[in-house]
Amino acid sequence: MVHSLAIAGIIVARQVLGQYLLKFPVKLKEIKLVLSMPKLLKAKDIIDAELPRLTQKCHELEQRGLKPNLNVVLVGDNPASHSYVKNKKRMCEKIGAQFVLHHLASDIPETEFLNLLGKINNDKAVTGCFVQLPIPKHLQHLDVTQMINPTKDVDGFHLNTVCDLYLGNLDKVIPCTPKGIITMLRKNNIQIEGADIVIIGRSHIVGKPLSLILEGLNATVTLCHSRTKDLKKHTRSADIVISAVGRAEFLNADYLKDGSTVIDVGINKTDKGLVGDVDFASATEKAIAITPVPGGVGPMTVFSLMENLLMTTETILKERS
Ligand code: NAD
Repeated sequence: MVHSLAIAGIIVARQVLGQYLLKFPVKLKEIKLVLSMPKLLKAKDIIDAELPRLTQKCHELEQRGLKPNLNVVLVGDNPASHSYVKNKKRMCEKIGAQFVLHHLASDIPETEFLNLLGKINNDKAVTGCFVQLPIPKHLQHLDVTQMINPTKDVDGFHLNTVCDLYLGNLDKVIPCTPKGIITMLRKNNIQIEGADIVIIGRSHIVGKPLSLILEGLNATVTLCHSRTKDLKKHTRSADIVISAVGRAEFLNADYLKDGSTVIDVGINKTDKGLVGDVDFASATEKAIAITPVPGGVGPMTVFSLMENLLMTTETILKERS
């Protein structure tokens, strides 16, 4: 209610200001800039505030006999994968969790790869693990996400985890990017219940699980994709638009209604560096809150991985006692 009133207030203020600006365009230029700037949904603010809680939990688990221990299997030398793994290692170090990287050559024989997975799955000291995707072609016929011990599934891609999501069990491990987006919305008091939310992109790791979670939180969800007939028709009436497409800066103000929240999941390599799916400068004309790229959904994904690691460690510890 308060949120809706705030949005309405800003929309009216923008309209009134617009009338004045027609008469005094130069003098009021700076005021316009300030009033039209949406709230920047930065991951750092949330992570800085939440890290002490995670560090404390990590320490407590260690005291109770099981140190959170994340094992990552990285095959080959994809630069983006290296960078993602580095961020995950850094966050593990921040909260005091063990981090072990198994870096394999891109031509590793399948049997060796499978032996390593088996070893990690059965290692009692390991409390969370995943294979960094993508993997080289000769291993792609393997369904690696289903080969992970489900109790150590910190990515949340195992079918057991998917089944929990489908059944609406949201207090268990859930995939990291959707989980990070939910945390981002909640920590910024952006109303989910009853909101009209459009997700663009239906991948198994972002769009699809996110649609299940948001539906479970009582939002009205529309899941759009490459065959959606008229994307703007949907996005223009959404309270929240979440883009996970991988198409640089396509989502501009024309796709949005005034006062909407925009969550940019996309990471696109361009000549000017990494950009999201959202044309940030244009979208800020209509958005009331927006995530930056970088510094928005990406770090929230890594943060959620840490939360999942603490959850799997807790579960394993309880099962042992
Ligand atoms: P994907 O690459 O598997 O699929 C893209 C999706 O976009 C598909 O569902 C497709 O239907 C849809 N799509 C393609 N063209 C479209 C169009 N013109 N209009 C509407 N929909 C269209 O999806 P993904 O793996 O979820 O990745 C999407 C983007 O998100 C990529 O840029 C990826 O790098 C990024 N990503 C970021 C994070 C993060 O933590 N920030 C995590 C995962 C993925």
